Amino acid sequence: MAIPAGAVRLMSLLPTSVIQPILYSIAPHTVSEGLAFVPALQDALYRGRTWWKKQLSHDLIPFRPLTTIYEPWPKRFALDAMDIVKQRLTEEGYPIQHGPGNFCPYTYLVFALGGGGYAGTLRWGDEAGIAIVGDACIYGLAGQPAKALSFIKQPSNFTEAHFSVEAQTGALMHELYHSFGLAEHDFTGSPNISGPWWAWPNLGLLSSHKEHILKPPYDVFLVPPLISQPKVEVIEPLEGIDPTRVTIPTGLLKDPAWTRIKALLRKLWPLR
Ligand SMILES: [Zn+2]
Repeated sequence: MAIPAGAVRLMSLLPTSVIQPILYSIAPHTVSEGLAFVPALQDALYRGRTWWKKQLSHDLIPFRPLTTIYEPWPKRFALDAMDIVKQRLTEEGYPIQHGPGNFCPYTYLVFALGGGGYAGTLRWGDEAGIAIVGDACIYGLAGQPAKALSFIKQPSNFTEAHFSVEAQTGALMHELYHSFGLAEHDFTGSPNISGPWWAWPNLGLLSSHKEHILKPPYDVFLVPPLISQPKVEVIEPLEGIDPTRVTIPTGLLKDPAWTRIKALLRKLWPLR
């Protein structure tokens, strides 16, 4: 089926890749209630970026400014958080899948206020996806570990120490790690982000995971090194100079390349 021309134009306006934090307020929580957490969430995102840069020796693309979604049907969320969030993002116009081979270069970091102790990541096959953290992470990042722990079903092995600002920054970055198409958990080797996230920031990134993110297609989530950028030079005509009166320096006239340059220039304007 042919794609309507309008759709093609819209797609071409979308950024190549996106890491988008979203504050997802589930009724009876309000968006304004959620906004009170934004400074704490942004601090966590900043710390997270710094950690990734150290691990990858590359910067992640800048995270997009945080956006908000209001979820008026709390019961739907409890049933199947992943599908609900995916559906809501689609309804709200967030791109879910597009690009060559349907690789999704969009990763969403969803802070679900009202999401309880939930944390998980939806991926499309081996692709990027949606990372979701609930109240336990949000309150942990806001420096309220006791409140955060209250969202965890007991008995559990978790203590308040697992909900410190740092530990929950680790939990958030653990979900971001999954959203880069990595499903593996490794609790056996040296402490790394795929394993004991609560030890953050004293965590590494396994070399196999690092390679995975540095290689296509996941390198779309990295700031490209400047050297690989195509160099585009734009030569502007100098204002007030009549191109038909340009004088060529004598040295240049002796240059062997000058004959070719002259031929090119003659096409642009007559030389004296
Ligand atoms: Zn995990």
